[in-house]
Amino acid sequence: MSTVTENAALLPASLREDFPILTNNVLGGQPLVFLDNAASTQRPRQVIDALSQVYERDYANVHRGIHTLSERSTEQFELAREKVRAFINAEHAHEVIFTQGTTASINLVARSWGETNLKAGDEVLTTVMEHHSNLVPWQQVCQRTGAVLRHVPLTEDGRLDMAAFDLLLSEKTKLVAVVSVSNTLGTVNPIDEIVKKSHDAGALVLVDAAQSVPHTTTDVRHWDADFMAFSGHKMLGPSGVGILYGKEALLDEMPPFLGGGSMINEVRLDGFTPAALPAKFEAGTPPITPAIGMSAAIDYLNRVGLEAIHQHEQILVEQAHAALSQIDGLQILGPAPEHRAGLVSFAFDRIHAHEFAQVLNDRYGVAVRAGHHCTQPLHKLLGIAASTRASFYLYNRPEDVDRLVEGIAEVQQMFAPKGRKRRRKPQ
Ligand code: PMP
Repeated sequence: MSTVTENAALLPASLREDFPILTNNVLGGQPLVFLDNAASTQRPRQVIDALSQVYERDYANVHRGIHTLSERSTEQFELAREKVRAFINAEHAHEVIFTQGTTASINLVARSWGETNLKAGDEVLTTVMEHHSNLVPWQQVCQRTGAVLRHVPLTEDGRLDMAAFDLLLSEKTKLVAVVSVSNTLGTVNPIDEIVKKSHDAGALVLVDAAQSVPHTTTDVRHWDADFMAFSGHKMLGPSGVGILYGKEALLDEMPPFLGGGSMINEVRLDGFTPAALPAKFEAGTPPITPAIGMSAAIDYLNRVGLEAIHQHEQILVEQAHAALSQIDGLQILGPAPEHRAGLVSFAFDRIHAHEFAQVLNDRYGVAVRAGHHCTQPLHKLLGIAASTRASFYLYNRPEDVDRLVEGIAEVQQMFAPKGRKRRRKPQ
């Protein structure tokens, strides 16, 4: 049988030495196996050092002071913007807006673009696999404007039902808001096709790229996406910083979302004129040090290579998928490895996800996520209350997958009634 990883190679295990937290922790008598990367990743020494250096040598507020430290901070902050631009291949650095994270970026578009452009009868098309942060802001803006929110359903195997997408997309659709990689199913969505079809129908596209930008090469101009959102903390960077990419022409037209310092050109007692991009959308003191840390994370990722990271994770997810498929009573959520990124969620009919996660942590040192992963509607649709998720990154190894599988087998034995074996077809 051919696999997606035939010519792929694992990354050298030595890069784990760059991550102090991986060696500093022993859980349940075992070295930490960190498989909760879809929630947030760890930081290499290079990022930690970049943060320390700013605080120890260069820190001041940006864009304001005429003094040396402010100049240094400003220079590094703007260099970070340029790093992000190149990383996603945006055309202009001022199309890169620093926000607090993916959630803040999507809310910015919903409030600024949505409230200006949506009216009763218009439609926003999203999908049933969205994270709450690409669902709730659209529910809110639809409530305010009278626009209607529609959802693309799934195929049997947990991919987007593109036939249904074609039927739901119409001249009423003003925006398609879609996740590039599902944080629960692992499904990789066909963003190229979605953007092309949406543009042909006259709709804009926002891509929630929180789970893809950290793991594979991103070319936002190739996608031709109108907006894209992602977070620093999911790509070896600090929390508290994220990105909204928007096409210049759209961002130029949009009103500022938050008001305050930095986002103005001039303020009078009776009004203000907004600043040009990107300052127009960066009211107040921005996430200065987190942005500089994100820039160091991008340097690190570029050095390792996004294609190499992607291949590494594909090997791990294929290994995990094959091993988990052999376990009686375990239901893997989402599609076959060739349609998924580096994560796998699963559920048991008899054991709650929290019990799984607890035993894996306490006895095997394996950190996984248990719950609904901010995709409650998706879990409801799948008929499960919660699932357990293992998500991989560049520092995970095949031995980590082995430990996960060993742990699962033990949990299952602990909870299984004697003498009964059930097998369920993975979905
Ligand atoms: N979208 C997806 C697909 C995610 O996985 C996450 C984080 N779990 C978010 C959005 C929200 O990201 P943040 O919490 O950094 O705003």
